[in-house]
Amino acid sequence: MKAKLMRLGLDALYYTKAYQLFTPRWCGVGVIFTLHHVRSVSTPDPFRPNSILEITPEFLDATLQHVLKAGYEVVDLDEMQRRLAEQDFRQKFVCFTLDDGYLDNYLNAFPVFKKYDVPFTVYVNTGLLNGTAVLWWWLLEHIVRNHNEISIVLNDCKLNLPAKSTSQKYQSYNTIYWSLRKMSHKQQYATIQQLFDKYGVDWRAFCRSSAMSWEMLKEMAESGLATIGAHTVNHFALGKLSDDEVCKEAGMSREIISERLGEVPKHFSYPYGDRLSAAIREFNIIRELGFATATTTRKGVLFPQHARHLHALPRVSLNGGYQMQRYITLFLSGAPFALWQRFRTLDVS
Ligand SMILES: [Zn+2]
Repeated sequence: MKAKLMRLGLDALYYTKAYQLFTPRWCGVGVIFTLHHVRSVSTPDPFRPNSILEITPEFLDATLQHVLKAGYEVVDLDEMQRRLAEQDFRQKFVCFTLDDGYLDNYLNAFPVFKKYDVPFTVYVNTGLLNGTAVLWWWLLEHIVRNHNEISIVLNDCKLNLPAKSTSQKYQSYNTIYWSLRKMSHKQQYATIQQLFDKYGVDWRAFCRSSAMSWEMLKEMAESGLATIGAHTVNHFALGKLSDDEVCKEAGMSREIISERLGEVPKHFSYPYGDRLSAAIREFNIIRELGFATATTTRKGVLFPQHARHLHALPRVSLNGGYQMQRYITLFLSGAPFALWQRFRTLDVS
């Protein structure tokens, strides 16, 4: 429902051309795009709660054509940082960043970036490449898709959630998803494990089949196009961790990547990246650890003032719900984010 309203609002902005009124003031100086999976969707299932986390290779290709034609330069994160530091905004720029380290990034996205000879960044969750990441949000989708009822103990309360119709599936998925997001990591794992045992899910096999290998990552880094950034070891929401644990998650992922690739990652992205996972405390810790920049999933384009907030950078999600070029036009105009942020350029607390 919320997604439908959002699309209606965006379409109204586009078709009335109202977005053009925002452009001069609100388009900012550049945009950092967030991507996760890049792959073709094999079955047109109406129940796809994680569809925002995947786009097709064709959409990525069309988006690259679009931004280049619109006069944007595709730059890497070092260059983005330099332009902000020197306030060099002669040409508008975009950065493409891919979170986690999925196999399809190597198979499907890398060829597109090579085709246009443009840089991109992969923020690596080292647990994913090492086979220890529990990609529970995809596995939960799988379980709900394949069952008409989900039995689960949530916060000591036994529930039988209906999951027959598409709307029931969405409702049950969201109930479980948001309960899990709010739990401590320990409780979250116990709850998920209980669900995996009951429904016979092998999370290790799923992790192995989803991840790219270190060799693939190395090949991308050595191509000269990919910047490799850090994205923690266990993909915990950092907001739930102690200061020491945040340091450990970020620092260890940087060390592991350095050992594997022979180069120290300078850039970081916060797992989940929303307000619950990354706020002022996390921004400060990541800055003190010496990362040059860090990106959130707070929505927005970049303004000159972000030079003073390099560890709280907003991004624009290239997501499966908005795979039309009219949305790229809108995103580049900055209009949706001006409205979303109530006409604030900075959202960094
Ligand atoms: Zn992530």
